[in-house]
Amino acid sequence: MTYLDANAAEPLRPAARAAMIEALGQVGNPSSVHGPGRAARRILEDARESLAASFGARPADLVFTSGGTEADALALHALSPGRRAIIGATEHDAVRAAAPGAAILPVDSSGVADLAALEALLAEGEPALVALMLANNETGVLHPIVEAARLCRRFGALLHVDAVQAAGRLAIDFAALGAASLALSSHKLGGPAGAGALLLAPEAAEHFRPLIEGGGQERGRRGGTPALAAIAGFAAAAREALAVPSSVLGPLRDAAERAARAAGAIILGVDAPRLDNTTALALPGIKAETQVIALDLAGVAVSAGAACSSGKVAESHVLRAMGAGVLAGQAIRVSLPWNATEEDVQRFATAYAEMAARLLRRAA
Ligand code: PLP
Repeated sequence: MTYLDANAAEPLRPAARAAMIEALGQVGNPSSVHGPGRAARRILEDARESLAASFGARPADLVFTSGGTEADALALHALSPGRRAIIGATEHDAVRAAAPGAAILPVDSSGVADLAALEALLAEGEPALVALMLANNETGVLHPIVEAARLCRRFGALLHVDAVQAAGRLAIDFAALGAASLALSSHKLGGPAGAGALLLAPEAAEHFRPLIEGGGQERGRRGGTPALAAIAGFAAAAREALAVPSSVLGPLRDAAERAARAAGAIILGVDAPRLDNTTALALPGIKAETQVIALDLAGVAVSAGAACSSGKVAESHVLRAMGAGVLAGQAIRVSLPWNATEEDVQRFATAYAEMAARLLRRAA
């Protein structure tokens, strides 16, 4: 199988596997005061320090969670008191579901947040909590976070950044971004599923209210015994990811796009700054689900824009927000994993050309 669905889950990195195996050998709960507990605590705090260093945060302001969804939900819960929510039109469901009734910040036809619209929304009234992702999961399109953070500060608003897809693929310096909080997920950067983190700026750390209180772990910000092995794997994966820039994937992504274009595809978000590993390819007239199944049968794993947990394909709200019209239901996402090769792209190109020719002929 040629695996080109990294934005759903990256393959586990060797360093993450090794760190997890070592941590699995450690008996004890990091909250216990005895020797084994202290050894477990050391693993936890080493991972915290390492991740904080990887992403430009202070270790004390990094809260471990179960993944990106919880980190987003925690941020929107913790920072929302007394604030109205504004979220980007192309946010992930992890954010959308955690901010019901939020005002929606539109994007342009490339999928980039409209900063003039943000300014107008911020000027409307009480202080806001804004959620804007760093990189979109369906298109790879990057939002101007530094500029958005600057605007938010001008209007006394807090900015939460979902960096789940950007982390490990772009260098992130949380302190320099100027955001109040930032969400990370382990399995999107080559660590195991089951771990994530929320980074907090001092102003967010001060007035924080937890979603889960439990036994007061994570300085009272997230109750529950941490998933030690997953967290150790998360930190090791982040170190490895940042050691090799994902720009090495750019030429492979470009080759995949050239092949798809030649077969009739339209690339969505192509004019915006994007992640190097992601492309959204629309094939006019052919349902996304049909394309995904055809490619799967040809041995190539990709996804439709938005897959629900049921496995059913829903029309993409991201592509709709970009004004893609019917193409919103006719686009697949190809996302190259960290270990993608030229052979992977070759196999994709062959399978895509065959699939497009056959389905377009049938549709004509
Ligand atoms: N945010 C974005 C942009 C995502 O792409 C995802 C997962 O696809 C999430 C949040 C949720 O992360 P997790 O799967 O770790 O809960």
